Amino acid sequence: MSIFGNGIFGNKATGMVAGDGQGSAHTGTVEKSDAQWREELTPEEYHVLRQAGTERPYTGEYWDTHTAGVYQCRACGTELFTSNEKFDSHCGWPSFWAPLAEGKVRYIHDRTLGMDRIEVRCASCDSHLGHVFEGEGYGTPTDQRYCINSVSLRLVTSENATPGKAEPQP
Ligand SMILES: [Zn+2]
Repeated sequence: MSIFGNGIFGNKATGMVAGDGQGSAHTGTVEKSDAQWREELTPEEYHVLRQAGTERPYTGEYWDTHTAGVYQCRACGTELFTSNEKFDSHCGWPSFWAPLAEGKVRYIHDRTLGMDRIEVRCASCDSHLGHVFEGEGYGTPTDQRYCINSVSLRLVTSENATPGKAEPQP
């Protein structure tokens, strides 16, 4: 049951900052004005990240990506998800069964559009990422699906992150 049972709604005070030790009780560490975000992000990124928009399914660059690597927040660069937790949900958006670590993302009860959902935001800059669903029957360790917009993420591949890559073979 994890976050749905009691974590995020019943126990907010301890849930928010658990895990990341030194952070203040304030939600974000990255704070920029709306004008700054508008300047730094593309219109599509701004719409999704700062206005909680949703990219159209099967149009984002990562929904069908299997490349190994780490997915960072497109807005602030915080590492949020990894390819290890990514799975094929066939829903048209990148799907993960868990974040890289608790504390990387925060959750907000979202009742817009006549639905009862849990919004997922970057804990560092408070940008909108997507929603998380549970109990859909996917064969993953958590039975949760973090349904995240591609445009909210930036994939940094393992290849780029590895220091000693491409050693020439004799
Ligand atoms: Zn962020």
